[in-house]
Amino acid sequence: MNYVYKIGIYSSKDFELKEDLVRRKIIFPCRLGILFCETGLAESFFEELSNKLNNVFDSFFFTIQNLGRYTFSDHMLKKAVKNANKKGKDFAEKNYNLHSTNKFYTILIQERVKHDLDMIAAITDLPLFSSHDDTILFLFGEAHLKHACCIISTLKLKESFYNRKENQRLLEQRIIKEVIHEIGHFFLGHEHCVDQSCVFCFSNNLEDIDNKAIHFCNSCQQKFEDLKTKFNI
Ligand SMILES: [Zn+2]
Ligand SMILES: [Zn+2]
Repeated sequence: MNYVYKIGIYSSKDFELKEDLVRRKIIFPCRLGILFCETGLAESFFEELSNKLNNVFDSFFFTIQNLGRYTFSDHMLKKAVKNANKKGKDFAEKNYNLHSTNKFYTILIQERVKHDLDMIAAITDLPLFSSHDDTILFLFGEAHLKHACCIISTLKLKESFYNRKENQRLLEQRIIKEVIHEIGHFFLGHEHCVDQSCVFCFSNNLEDIDNKAIHFCNSCQQKFEDLKTKFNI
C-alpha cells in the first residue's frame, strides 16, 4: 500500500552520521531519555509513558529521564526536507514536508552524550522519511541500533489525519506502542516478531497497530528473561 505519487527533490543534503563515534557497551540496568521534539503532546504524557516503559522493560532501566521539549531552529527545520504529496481514499490530498530520520538522530546522539544516557527516544509530530532508504516515506518510527536512538512520528497515529475526530486516549496508546516497539529494537535487534498480536511485530498501517497488544508476546518476553539472566538483573 503506497499512496505517495509525487515526490519533490531534496531542499538540501541529508545529515551524515559520524560512524566513528564509538559507543560504550551498554550494561543493564541502563539509562533512557525521552525527548519531545517538535510535538504538541502535553508534558503530562511523559508520566504515563515512563510508567508503561518501566512496566514492559521491567528492571532494564534505572532511569527514564524526561529531556523536555526540543524545537528546531528555522535553519534546521528547512534542512534535509523532502516534499511529498500524500493522497488516499481515507484522507484529503495534502502536501507534506518530510524530515530525514538522520536529522533527528544527529540531535539525539548529541543529547544522549550530553545527558550521559545509554538509549534515547524522541517523539515528533513531523512526518518522516528514512535516511537509510529515502523511498520509505511517512514512517511511524525508526530505530538506529548502533547509536541507540529512535524516533516516532505521531502524524499517522492521529485520527484527524484520516479525517476522523481526534481521540487523545487512543493516540497516546498508539504512541506508547510505537515507542515500546522502537526501544525493543535496541534489545532484540532488527528482526521483527511474527506474532501479529505482539508489540514487536511490524505494523504496516494503523489497523495493525491497533490490533497489537501494548506488550511483548511470550516468545519475545523469554528473550528479555534470557537477557536478565545474562546481565544478572
Ligand atoms: Zn520495527
Ligand atoms: Zn513477540
